[in-house]
Amino acid sequence: NYDVQIIGGGLAGCEAAWQLAQRGIRVRLSEMRGSGDMTPAHQTDGLAELVCSNSFRSDDAENNAVGLLHQEMRDLGSLIMQAAEVAKVPAGSALAVDRDVFSETVTKQLENNSNIEIVRERVDVIPSDRPVIVATGPLTATNLAESIMAKTGEDRLAFFDAIAPIVYHDSIDMDIAWYASRWDKGDGKDYINCPMDEAQYRAFHQGLLDSDKAEFKEWETNTPYFEGCMPIEVMASRGLDTLRFGPMKPVGLDNPRTGRWAHAVVQLRQDNKQGTLWNMVGFQTKMKHGAQVELLRTIPGLEKAEFARLGGLHRNTFIRSPILLDRQLRLKSAPHIRFAGQITGCEGYVESSAVGLMAGIMTAAELAGRSITAPPSTTALGALLGHITGDALADDYQPMNINFGLFAPLDEKVHKKSRKAAMTGRARTDLSSWIAAQAIAA
Ligand code: FAD
Repeated sequence: NYDVQIIGGGLAGCEAAWQLAQRGIRVRLSEMRGSGDMTPAHQTDGLAELVCSNSFRSDDAENNAVGLLHQEMRDLGSLIMQAAEVAKVPAGSALAVDRDVFSETVTKQLENNSNIEIVRERVDVIPSDRPVIVATGPLTATNLAESIMAKTGEDRLAFFDAIAPIVYHDSIDMDIAWYASRWDKGDGKDYINCPMDEAQYRAFHQGLLDSDKAEFKEWETNTPYFEGCMPIEVMASRGLDTLRFGPMKPVGLDNPRTGRWAHAVVQLRQDNKQGTLWNMVGFQTKMKHGAQVELLRTIPGLEKAEFARLGGLHRNTFIRSPILLDRQLRLKSAPHIRFAGQITGCEGYVESSAVGLMAGIMTAAELAGRSITAPPSTTALGALLGHITGDALADDYQPMNINFGLFAPLDEKVHKKSRKAAMTGRARTDLSSWIAAQAIAA
């Protein structure tokens, strides 16, 4: 006997269950591990298992976007943050946990809650008879993925991410780079172009070949969906000029400083509505993060680039949320279904939990006959929700960690050094007002 079914007892599903139960809603939490099924990355039957690192990243709520997200979740009574506190291990300014203690704490809290029934079962079809939250994560089981595709359309569920690095706009040197679309099409501001001469291009090409790369796991490449996301270094290995005829094509791009086409061009395309983030077109890569930063900063115009996200390629099931979901995380075409966690296209333990938290609160309000306005885009929760449900611009929607580029820009001019503190200060004030206005404090 339950009001809401949650599919997936990972980080998002557990947080959503907790938020619902705290508000008196009865939950059936369906988790396939423990019933004979496993994902390729999980190793235990514990709920909220951390599949890789044991870190929730920075806990600095004043200068760091993920630290701020921690604090906002604490303000809303997050179970994941409470369990992290219990399981905390020393890690400087980061929040890291003993993964076993963490998972046991979450599991026990949910088991002991009379509003929650944990059922070890694999769900193959999205139920249609009552509210449901799908929180099955980056490794959603195949049958359910097919059921999701049936609801969303086949081209709206990805099985791999192909992440190109994203650069903060204000770190691009516009004395070297310039705005232009190829053959002057578009409104002239669609792309930022970084020119390379032949020597720079050759050095860059060699750098790609020599760089340190992360390996694919066997279960990643053994899927039929692994197509069309070739890393840039693999393209480079096909020949010196392959990139110049591909993503680094210079034709039709007059450099206003020389009046000529460059030997090669790196293009960046606007990635969010605010125009604060720009992604490097076609630059998905398996280079290790340190190697990426070093090599990408050799690109003229990007010498001082700051990256909101570095490139990657992983097995990762996620939907095209910006076109499929409304601001309440509901599937527009079937509003009894909500999505939460990494399957919405956020990235990371904390972000997935945060989206689970919002899905839980929003579902609870709806069942109580109320609706909750989305948290303001000046807060970390609101910025993340905005990215997922409409602010991400790229046609090619890709997963994203929380970062300051997703927030509403500051109204007043603030010196670069004080900008982060100004943003987090504004967020704290606005979140408190939002909580008070919605009367949802847990
Ligand atoms: P999960 O935590 O994966 O939970 C989904 C749950 O749904 C799982 O328990 C699964 O068993 C269950 N499930 C799936 N299908 C079904 C079904 N049909 N029926 C019932 N249950 C089902 N993030 C980081 O922040 N740091 C890292 O170091 C990191 N490393 C990662 C390494 C790998 C290999 C992968 C795949 C991801 C990694 N991530 C990392 C991302 C991380 O997995 C997610 O951010 C986070 O776990 C997502 O939370 P979630 O709740 O959305 O999904």
